[in-house]
Amino acid sequence: MPAKKKTAKLLRCPTCRELVQFHDEDFPFCSDRCRKIDLGKWASGVYKISSPIVDPEVLEDLGGLGPHSSGDSHDN
Ligand SMILES: [Zn+2]
Repeated sequence: MPAKKKTAKLLRCPTCRELVQFHDEDFPFCSDRCRKIDLGKWASGVYKISSPIVDPEVLEDLGGLGPHSSGDSHDN
């Protein structure tokens, strides 16, 4: 098998390390799937949300932890 020297640019898919050709539709990804996986990584991992996500239920729970003894005139 004669080794033809190709000038085609090859890059590795950032997601799965598969070789991708420059003229590929999804370059630099090997497929649309890998592109979406990479985008998902960026959205959920690399760029962290600066403000903490607080669940309304958690806030409610914290509110119930306030001072309990408020002079209910209930103690003997
Ligand atoms: Zn891939």
